[in-house]
Amino acid sequence: MQRIRYQSYDGISWGELEGGNVHQLSSMMGSRTGLVTTLSDVTLLAPCEPKTIICVGKNYADHVAEMGGSKDNLPTEPGLFLKSIQALSNPGDPIPYPSWTQNLHYEGELAIVISRKMKNIAEEDAFDYILGYTCACDVTARDRQKADLQWTRGKSADKFCPVGPWLETDLDPSNLQVQTRVNGELKQNGNTRDLIFTIPTILSYISKFLTLEPGDLVLTGTPEGVGPLQVGDTLEITVEGIGSLTNTVEAAT
Ligand code: MG
Repeated sequence: MQRIRYQSYDGISWGELEGGNVHQLSSMMGSRTGLVTTLSDVTLLAPCEPKTIICVGKNYADHVAEMGGSKDNLPTEPGLFLKSIQALSNPGDPIPYPSWTQNLHYEGELAIVISRKMKNIAEEDAFDYILGYTCACDVTARDRQKADLQWTRGKSADKFCPVGPWLETDLDPSNLQVQTRVNGELKQNGNTRDLIFTIPTILSYISKFLTLEPGDLVLTGTPEGVGPLQVGDTLEITVEGIGSLTNTVEAAT
């Protein structure tokens, strides 16, 4: 089932998508209210309401290699970093190209939304804490990521985390193609079977030091093929079994 968060004439709601119709839900985890509208009458929003956005870096061997690392020297623990809540952005929203970077990059990723309070969990229980899966872009100012003392500006600036278009709640995430296109041209074409750290490993590891809450967002890492964006580009991230997230790049105001 596809679960969406949307703006309509009467505010922001959660809903389930079925045959082009949107069945309103009482909340993210709630039941149907009986109100039905059509997808074309709503505006999709990021399908999550996170207090925490946490991301795995270097989780595909081919991406480790393209970043100057060695496939013979892969991370032995998940390399995690946070993105700010201000980074969260909706399907269709412009990605700003800030004036303080000359090398803005896309990183297409599979993302997870958490369904219930997650603290100190075992790997074998991890799927009980997942509400659904969606597409995300870990927008990165690559020059600032490398030159700044910390990654905060390079990874967490305003609107540096578009998410959507919806949550797919019934999905096996272990063998999904993750593709990124810029102006229609295929740039990334990875598969989640190549994740260095699997989703259960990532969630259990995080839960040992940070409590995640319903609606929190976890980005699982990007495959090889990261590269620059330019003002005017159309970015499309597609995860098999979910759909496509599309955003355009605009000069920051
Ligand atoms: Mg990333």
